[in-house]
Amino acid sequence: MRIGEAAIISREGFVLPQRYKEHGEYFRLLTGEQAVIGWLKSQGVEAEPSDPGRIADQILVSVGGFWGTGLIADRDTIKLLDQMSKGMRRYIDGTLEEFPDRSIEVQRWKDLIGRRSKAKAFGYAPTLDGFVRARVLRLGLVLECPNCRKKNWFGIEGLGEVVTCERCLKEYAFPQGSLAFDRTPWHYRVLGPFSVPNYAEGAYASVLALNAFARGLGSDRVNITYATGLQFRMGTENPFEVDFTFWYQRRKMFDLQEEPLLVFGEAKSFATESFKEGDVARMRKLAERFTGAFLVFATLKEDLTETEKTAIGDFAKWGRERLADGTPRAPVIVLTGTELFANGEVEHAWKNIGGQRSDFVRPARVRIDNLWTLADITQQVYLGLPDPHARIATAPQKT
Ligand SMILES: [Zn+2]
Repeated sequence: MRIGEAAIISREGFVLPQRYKEHGEYFRLLTGEQAVIGWLKSQGVEAEPSDPGRIADQILVSVGGFWGTGLIADRDTIKLLDQMSKGMRRYIDGTLEEFPDRSIEVQRWKDLIGRRSKAKAFGYAPTLDGFVRARVLRLGLVLECPNCRKKNWFGIEGLGEVVTCERCLKEYAFPQGSLAFDRTPWHYRVLGPFSVPNYAEGAYASVLALNAFARGLGSDRVNITYATGLQFRMGTENPFEVDFTFWYQRRKMFDLQEEPLLVFGEAKSFATESFKEGDVARMRKLAERFTGAFLVFATLKEDLTETEKTAIGDFAKWGRERLADGTPRAPVIVLTGTELFANGEVEHAWKNIGGQRSDFVRPARVRIDNLWTLADITQQVYLGLPDPHARIATAPQKT
């Protein structure tokens, strides 16, 4: 970084001792992804961005970062986007074929936006313009080709007095007199990363899980430095995918700077049996390599199946074993649609739901921005594990 001069990285940040008054220096900060990849390399793990990781990044850029994720933090919205994406087919050679008939009438989106603004979940209501500005949707018209009968979708920029059929490549006149004026053929189509099927290859779940940590646990108090999906290679083993990796740090409280925590996560969409044994085994591998790191299992659905609870629960119990400093060796956090779709404070969402989750966060001293607390609570709520701090009264006590 500096030629022939010391640079000190301290708890307070970067320190560049100076010899001369008013001598300027420049800094180039790494992106979160570069920092994570570089650090992993120093730990002997080769990592590189994966396809789903790139899609997740594109989604975040499109919506304008975590503050814009409210657009997609909604079950029906993600399901409608996914339904539209099924109209795309990717061939082995990489070409994309689009099925314009799978674009969707504007009315479907108007209805959805209407429902969302009525519900105003957590005081937030998106607009159709918001989706257009974020380049999620583009408006167009569906016209049938008079030669081959194929229905073509034309974006507004592609409309003219003469249009060309994308299948037979014949030109035909825009039906200025015979358009179905009363049954308006205006359709929206999804763009870019939002047009990728299977819930954007799982990227919605990753983005919303990261958002839950970045904004959901007390956005004014938390910093995360993250990388979306990475392909990890450890030693001679086969490479494997990690959906997100980040450092988590609560901002300075009472002049006490906390150590950043390392977190790895696996994110799933809506499939009934989402988490498989292989997923747990991969997390276990990371837990053994990075002692003390947090392991997150995040899903867009509301509950885990019994099979999932058993597999993740066994792993979580193993992870509860204490290290020399008293912290668990592999704290497991489970997040569901309740947290991922909260679009704001998770605590607020839990209080709204009531019941066990609400009881957990009612006492003011309980802070879920403390990840160990979040792990304890979510293990009890979603995996049915006992309270790790509960003591059995008859157990022999050390005096
Ligand atoms: Zn045609």
